[in-house]
Amino acid sequence: MDGQEAVVERFDAIVVGAGFAGMYMLHRLRERGLSVRVFEAGNDVGGTWYWNRYPGARCDVESVEYQYGFSEELVRGWTWTERYAAQPEIMRYAAYVARQLDLRRDIQFNTRVTAAAYDESSNNWTIETDQGDRVTAQFCIMATGCLSASRVPEIPGLDSFKGDWHHTGAWPHEGVDFTGKRVAVIGTGSSGVQSIPLIAEQAERLFVFQRTPNFSLPALNAPMAPDYVEHWKEHFMAERKRVRATNSAAFIPLNDQSALEVDPEERQRHFEERWKKGGFVFITSYNNILDNLEANRLTADFVREKIRQTVKDPKVADLLAPTNHPIGTKRLCLDTNYFETYNLPHVTLVDIANTPIERITPDGLIVDGHEYQVDSIVFATGFDAMTGALLRIDIRGKDGLSLRDKWEAGPRTYLGLAIAGFPNLFMITGPGSPSVLVNVIIAIEQHSDWIMDCIDHLRANGLNEIEAEPDAEDRWVKHVNEKADSTLYPLANSWYLGSNVPGKPRVFMPYVGGFANYDKICKEVVAKGYEGFRMG
Ligand SMILES: Cc1cc2nc3c(=O)[nH]c(=O)nc-3n(C[C@H](O)[C@H](O)[C@H](O)COP(=O)(O)OP(=O)(O)OC[C@H]3O[C@@H](n4cnc5c(N)ncnc54)[C@H](O)[C@@H]3O)c2cc1C
Repeated sequence: MDGQEAVVERFDAIVVGAGFAGMYMLHRLRERGLSVRVFEAGNDVGGTWYWNRYPGARCDVESVEYQYGFSEELVRGWTWTERYAAQPEIMRYAAYVARQLDLRRDIQFNTRVTAAAYDESSNNWTIETDQGDRVTAQFCIMATGCLSASRVPEIPGLDSFKGDWHHTGAWPHEGVDFTGKRVAVIGTGSSGVQSIPLIAEQAERLFVFQRTPNFSLPALNAPMAPDYVEHWKEHFMAERKRVRATNSAAFIPLNDQSALEVDPEERQRHFEERWKKGGFVFITSYNNILDNLEANRLTADFVREKIRQTVKDPKVADLLAPTNHPIGTKRLCLDTNYFETYNLPHVTLVDIANTPIERITPDGLIVDGHEYQVDSIVFATGFDAMTGALLRIDIRGKDGLSLRDKWEAGPRTYLGLAIAGFPNLFMITGPGSPSVLVNVIIAIEQHSDWIMDCIDHLRANGLNEIEAEPDAEDRWVKHVNEKADSTLYPLANSWYLGSNVPGKPRVFMPYVGGFANYDKICKEVVAKGYEGFRMG
């Protein structure tokens, strides 16, 4: 960035992104009287839900949980209709919040931040956008999202394809009609699992290209009874406070018993009971599923058996039943009729585990020398998770240090909130924090509140700058790794580890030590005078 160019505007804080993180951060900063500009690449609020408009997109944390908890007024004023809200309803919720808090006036839409550079002499960040903006602010807050940098795999020949193609994470606003079409879906993670049954309802022919099978649990989505909704409005604030003090940060009750200490009949009965409830309640059937291989195998066996009971063709069932990773160590999916879809005569599962897609032709895709002719391709191939959105921005800290260089061997942060060498820059749900392993809205609120308190502290004490110390960052990175290594998570090739992006360093990115433990650490850091930070 050339320091000589004119700066157009100056703010106290810049927030990048207007998903749930950016929206709440804006509200908090404005409440304290700071001048703020939010830059958002999309043309509305909602983040994830603005971009992911594919058929079947819904939350997999129950709707009543998947909402802000900082304002009882907001909770009481909004009525969810389904157990797992679909994308349009969540977008309506985001619009409702934006309206109630009058957020839009400080958000500049259709504007992508391309660069951010720190000037040590003024303690300011200069931010540049693809619309030619050049603004400065003392604080730069990255609310860029863990799952916002969508990724189309590099398969030769895509340019030559005559049909249409879409990524689930950048779905056309007007929708896509697959009626009468031959469709290829590539990818069987959450987006694939959610969209495949609905695409199959329209398409004349559907080919699903699967590299890795995933565990999926039945969502048992349904409209919510009005008295259930009312019950939640009544009890939400107390319940949210209660779950924020737990490590799972979820309303779901954990059975605090080892899967190995009960006899097989009792275990089967308990699994069955939880399975019938639908949702993630199944994965908390026992307390050691995610850190004991045998407990995990027993749980996975139960799910594999369910898949085999559902899918009629035993060969297809075998391909769909995951055996290459412990259950829960890749993002678990929730589905509606996913496995049933493979019983339909016009749906074909194509295993690409050992024979990847060779290339795309004008008419389709070639696997193992065979051409699958299709009219449309859907890339349900996920995201460059957790670091992608940050690294797509040219971020430069002290002495011109580039974040891309600093994170060449994987992300390094202090608490997932700050980075040594990058003063006055904060991340909401950055790598090294619980983020995607918990209800992300809870993680967002906790981070935004911490950042706000920190800025308050600096202002109250006449301080201009805060920066994570390198040794505090080293200790945190070590702690995050040790926590991950004490679980089964690193045994899977997952996007938590960056394994879905060729060449991305293998580092376990989210913090698995539990939300309440993490929150306590963040509070202790403050209580000890921002331990591990240098202020000036
Ligand atoms: C399909 C799907 C389903 C999900 N379901 C759940 C769920 O059930 N429960 C749960 O807890 N979490 C879920 N998540 C995770 C979800 O990402 C979070 O719940 C939450 O929406 C994250 O909010 P955010 O504001 O942090 O990020 P996002 O919602 O991703 O928003 C980030 C915003 O930043 C913008 N942005 C990024 N880079 C730039 C830039 N350089 N310049 C300008 N703007 C930029 C993006 O356009 C985006 O709008 C889901 C994610 C996906 C993809």
